[in-house]
Parts: sequence; C-alpha cells; structure tokens
Amino acid sequence: MPSNGKKVVVDRFKCAYCGACVSVCKNNANELVETFLVIDETKCNCCMLCVKVCPMNALRVVEG
Ligand code: SF4
Ligand code: SF4
Repeated sequence: MPSNGKKVVVDRFKCAYCGACVSVCKNNANELVETFLVIDETKCNCCMLCVKVCPMNALRVVEG
C-alpha cells in the first residue's frame, strides 16, 4: 500500500478502545488486540478515515 512515507500512530493514553477506527478501515489495517490498538503498516494507506472518526483524537499521521 502506498503511504508516502507516512504512518498512523495511536496515543495509547488517549485511546478508549471504542473500535470506531477498526469499523471504518477499509483495508483491515487496524485491530483491537485485548486493550491495544494495533495498526498494520503494511496494510494501511494513510487514508485518514480512522483519524477523522476517532472520538478521542488518539490517532495521528506522522512521517515515516
Ligand atoms: S489510515 Fe485508513 S487504512 Fe490506515 S488504519 Fe486508518 S482507516 Fe485504515
Ligand atoms: S477510534 Fe480512537 S479511541 Fe476508538 S479505538 Fe480507535 S484510536 Fe481508540
């Protein structure tokens, strides 16, 4: 998946494990594993959908 050298990261202190980002991802690039949100960089194309729906502002895009 092309991601232009960017990736999505989660702030574990902000994440409330609501699952909204998992529901919205079309690439199945993220999943809740027990109490951690795991983002698979090989599947994520940085479409930003999850960043926009997160009610806790826990997701953001960073370089590389
Ligand atoms: S940025 Fe898009 S592809 Fe990546 S985890 Fe979020 S919703 Fe999925
Ligand atoms: S949408 Fe935000 S608060 Fe909900 S699981 Fe994803 S990162 Fe955590």
